Amino acid sequence: MDEELGTLDYKKIFLNEIPVDGLVVNVRMTAEELDMEFDGCTLSGEIEFKGLLQRFSDRYLLSGQLIGQWLYQCDRCLTPFLYPVKCDVLMHYVELRSTGYDAAAVIDPEIEEPEELVTDHINLHQALVEQMILQIPMKALCSENCKGLCPQCGENLNIRQCDCHQTDIDPRLIKLKNLLEK
Ligand SMILES: [Zn+2]
Ligand SMILES: [Zn+2]
Repeated sequence: MDEELGTLDYKKIFLNEIPVDGLVVNVRMTAEELDMEFDGCTLSGEIEFKGLLQRFSDRYLLSGQLIGQWLYQCDRCLTPFLYPVKCDVLMHYVELRSTGYDAAAVIDPEIEEPEELVTDHINLHQALVEQMILQIPMKALCSENCKGLCPQCGENLNIRQCDCHQTDIDPRLIKLKNLLEK
C-alpha cells in the first residue's frame, strides 16, 4: 500500500497495475486542471481525494473522501458564493470481459450495480468529476438569511434596502422612474 499516485496518471489507472493489497489514492487537482462547468456552476480552488482502490478478482472498489467546492449562484439573490463539498465516495466497477461475476459474493451490501469497465483502465479523473456533479445542490442560498432581490427594482436587499415597499407605486411606473433617472 505504499504506491503513490503522484507518479501515476490518474486518468488512466491500469487494472493490471493495481496491487493486490490495493492502491492508495491521494490526488489533488486544481479547478483549472479539471476545467469543469456544469449547469452554471464552476469548480473552484482545489479538489482533493484520499482513498483506496481495491481489487477483488474482476471487480474494483474505489472508496475514500472527496473534498472540493463549487462556485454556485444563490437561488435568491443570484450572487455567486462558494458551496463546499465533502463526501464519501464508494464506486464499484466490474470488468466487462468478466463472464458473469458472482453476484452472491457481495463486497459491501450498500453498493449496488457495478459500473462496467469497457477499458483496461479506470479514469479516476472522470469518476471524481462525476461525484462532484452529484453534489451540486438543487437549491442553495448564499446564507440562510438571504433577503433576495427586490421583485420591483431588482436591488440586492442584502446590500441595500430599497424604498419600494414604502411607496406603493405601480411597478410599471417604477420601471419608468428608473429609466428616467438613468
Ligand atoms: Zn443570496
Ligand atoms: Zn426595490
